[in-house]
Order: sequence, then C-alpha cells, then structure tokens
Amino acid sequence: MPPMRTEVALQVDDERPARSVAVPQGQAVVGNAGGEGGKGGRKEDGRAKALAALPRQRSLRSVSTQTSRERRKAKGGTSALGRRLGEAACPNDQKPEGSARRAEARSSVTGEAFLADHRRAWSPSTHQDSSAGIGGICKRQGDGVCANCGKQGSDTIKLKSCTACRLVKYCGVDCQRAHHKRHKKACKKRAAELKDERLYSQGHERPEGDFCPICTLPIPFPMKSHSRFNACCMKLICDGCDMAAQKRGMFDCLFCRTRYPDNDADSLTMIQTRVAKKDPAAMFFLGQKYFNGDLGLQKDMQKAAELYTEAAELGSVNALFSLGCASFFGDGVGQDEKKAVQFWTKAAMQGHVESRRNLGCIEGQNGNRERAVRHCLISAKMGHEDSLENIKQMFMDGEATKEQYVVALRGYQNTVEEMKSHDRDEAMRLGYH
Ligand SMILES: [Zn+2]
Ligand SMILES: [Zn+2]
Ligand SMILES: [Zn+2]
Ligand SMILES: [Zn+2]
Repeated sequence: MPPMRTEVALQVDDERPARSVAVPQGQAVVGNAGGEGGKGGRKEDGRAKALAALPRQRSLRSVSTQTSRERRKAKGGTSALGRRLGEAACPNDQKPEGSARRAEARSSVTGEAFLADHRRAWSPSTHQDSSAGIGGICKRQGDGVCANCGKQGSDTIKLKSCTACRLVKYCGVDCQRAHHKRHKKACKKRAAELKDERLYSQGHERPEGDFCPICTLPIPFPMKSHSRFNACCMKLICDGCDMAAQKRGMFDCLFCRTRYPDNDADSLTMIQTRVAKKDPAAMFFLGQKYFNGDLGLQKDMQKAAELYTEAAELGSVNALFSLGCASFFGDGVGQDEKKAVQFWTKAAMQGHVESRRNLGCIEGQNGNRERAVRHCLISAKMGHEDSLENIKQMFMDGEATKEQYVVALRGYQNTVEEMKSHDRDEAMRLGYH
C-alpha cells in the first residue's frame, strides 16, 4: 500500500508571508519561537497595529500559495525544499506589537492550509546520528571477557566498555581496534538506541523562560498571543497578570517596575544595553528585530543569525530554535536541514515545544511515522494544540493508534487546565492582548 501523503503548514513564529513549508502527514514544522519576542513597545500601538494588520494577514494565504506555486513552476518541478515549503512563513520574525492578532490570524491560515493541502508529498530529509559509531574505551573496570580475545577480566586484566554502546568490553585499545569491523554494526545500532532514549526522555518540562514570573504558571501556546515581552528585563509576563496590574492602575513593567519605552529608539537602547551585558535573551530579541527590520533597524538576517548564535551559546533555547529555522530556510545562513535538525534536537531536549514538533514533522517527512508520533505526543502533552492536531490527523490516517491519540488528548487537556487562572480566563474573555 502506498504511504498516505499529508501536508501541513510549517507553523512558524513570524508573520512573513513569502515562504511556506509543506510538511508531512498531519504535521507541521513549527516555528513559534515562543517566549522572547513579544511586544516591545506600547500596548495601545500594538492593538491598533494588530487590528490594522488583520485583513492583510488574511490575504497572506493566497500570496503564500501563489509564491510556492510559482516557485515550483519556475523550477519545473517540486524540489525537496519546494515540497517542504508549504504554508508557513519563517520563524524568526516577530513584531513587537500586535503579534497576537497576527499570530491568531496565522494559525487560522495554517488550519485552512492543513485541510486544503492535506495530501501532498513528503519530502526527504536526513536525520544525522552524530553519536553513532565507535567510541573510546571508558575507564571503568568491568567483569566478563574481552570481546576480541576472550580474556577473562581480573585484577590484572581490566576490561573497559565500549563507550558508544556499552555492549562489549575489551582488554585494551588494540583489541578494540581489531574488533571494530565486527562490532561496528551492533555498536552503531545500540548507540543510536541510546541516543533515542535521551532524545525522547528529555525535554518534557518547559524551559524557565516559558513561565510567567509573576504567577509562575507556564504561558499557553502560542505564547506571544498570551503574554507580553518586556524589553526592560527580558521577561515574559502573562496576559492575566498584565491585565490584573493594569486594572489596579499599574502601567509600568510588573517585574522590574521600569516604565515601558514609548518609542522604538528607547526600546532599542534598552535592548542594546542588555546585549552589551551579554544577556542571551536580549541577544535573541535583538536578533529578531534585525530579522524583521523592526525598531528602525535595517533588516539583516545575517546579523540576526550571528546574534542567535551567540545567544544560543550563552544558553538561549529560543535562539537554538530560531537557528534551526534559519538553517531550515537558509535565512542568513546556508540552507542546511541537518543543521536545522541538530538545533531543534538540542532545543527540544531542553523542553522547547515547537522544536519538538518540528522534529516530528521532519520525521514524518522522512516516512518515520512512529518517530513522528513520539515527538508530537510529547509536544501535545505539553499543551501544544497543533501537535495534538497532528496526532489526530495521524490517527485518522491510520498512522497513530487510538490509544496514542487518547493519551495525547488527555495530556493536552490536563496541561491546558493547569495553565489556566482566573486572571488569564478573564483576559481571554475580555479579548485582552
Ligand atoms: Zn582482548
Ligand atoms: Zn560499541
Ligand atoms: Zn502571570
Ligand atoms: Zn521589566
């Protein structure tokens, strides 16, 4: 039976219409950079701009579709990237103001795209297993026999395990080398299994930056629709807390009490001050501003990628995610899907939900449905609706079991419930943001 083909929009965190990514089997590569990158400016402006932006956003779909169609036509076929490029824009831009409405508009756009483009080819991609292969010999002494010469381990003959797989022991480097040819296949296999164990067992908790520092609850997805980002302290404050404070007549930053900047130049100065102090969140945020050409900056994707790189080195998980997206699309860096997967893997293992889902999408594209389900299950259980949709779609296509769907659904519902609060509910009800 030929595999079912499904395509979903690449859900990314910017509002850029030009690119779109077709993804597999009910899965979309996600690009919601999450936290950092919300509103940097004044809220009033944001709302007005958001409203103004809505109709434009609505029309993006046709623009986007047109673009990818034209691209395919121009190329005389569907390239690997072309096939992947479905319905989404790239992840990196985020407008400081009004991102929420546009994000909402986006997600409805992706929803339509999902249904409309449901069946299209999966594109090939690779998944590098960098840890596979023979490793060194660990220093631990072991019992048993040398896998090469059969010598029994003892006080004098200390056997050491192959560090890559831990399956075999050797009496020395010479025996390990001699055994390599016979061992490498099993070693590689086990090393890959060990790597997978880590990949799927780590990153089930969201990173610290995903939590509102005032009420300490994790921020629902998409985060920029449920929070504001304050350039003064680089904190993401949830809409519930923000609204409650404004009701009490507090209009300064809830976290550090700084007055919000009321123009781009002041916002930029605030961010740059923190960048100079090597704050990774600020670097990531400034990277986004360069990526979009916001705050009066000249749009510069290379500069953005440089800032992301430095931020990632200093520990920004969001920057890792954005680097993955930049690599995937070739924005400011060379297009390199393997690298994108590496960045997303690193971020996902630290709890970055959209990165986790993107890994699922890539696996889906590669025809690895089981791995796709495993990834999306994790992100769905962390409260990510689109991931749940992916599982649902895969279930409907016969690629995920009913049990998997039920587990995803329950996990999702529980997590969503845990993210609720009175203030958040009220902010939602009042259309605050
Ligand atoms: Zn030996
Ligand atoms: Zn080994
Ligand atoms: Zn809060
Ligand atoms: Zn602040």
